[in-house]
Amino acid sequence: MSRRPLGPHPGIGYGHLVSTTPGAFVTKREWLVHPLPVERPEQGRQDRQVGCATCDRKMTVRVSSLERARRRQQVLRMLVVAGAAVAVLCGLSAGVTDGEGLRLALLFGMVIAAVVAFNFFMRLRLEDGVTMRWPTLTRMHGHMLRWPPDTGG
Ligand SMILES: [Zn+2]
Repeated sequence: MSRRPLGPHPGIGYGHLVSTTPGAFVTKREWLVHPLPVERPEQGRQDRQVGCATCDRKMTVRVSSLERARRRQQVLRMLVVAGAAVAVLCGLSAGVTDGEGLRLALLFGMVIAAVVAFNFFMRLRLEDGVTMRWPTLTRMHGHMLRWPPDTGG
């Protein structure tokens, strides 16, 4: 699985959940990834209906123009950097402060900022200017947006 550069066709596909294997630490999920048979609009965004190639379930995806997708990636990247910077700042300040209450607050802030940064980072990994409109969220009834597996190319 690897991310593709932004192009006229969304590189990201959708996965159909094939099997779930509970493990000791993480649940292993196997996905069958299909390409999204949609093109990007010239500008703005458009909702398209897609039927799953495996189970024919209908999904609505919102596809952004190349320009808009690029901007979304930039914004997410900025948020990741900003969140990480705040986390580092809080961590450093907590290390040098004398006040016990302030230190706790700073450590708390560090954790929150790190979680936020990680959250945006995970979203950035799947950001290709495509979002699932319906059903809601990206993971629903065994389907989610996924990058296609590497084909060695
Ligand atoms: Zn399916």
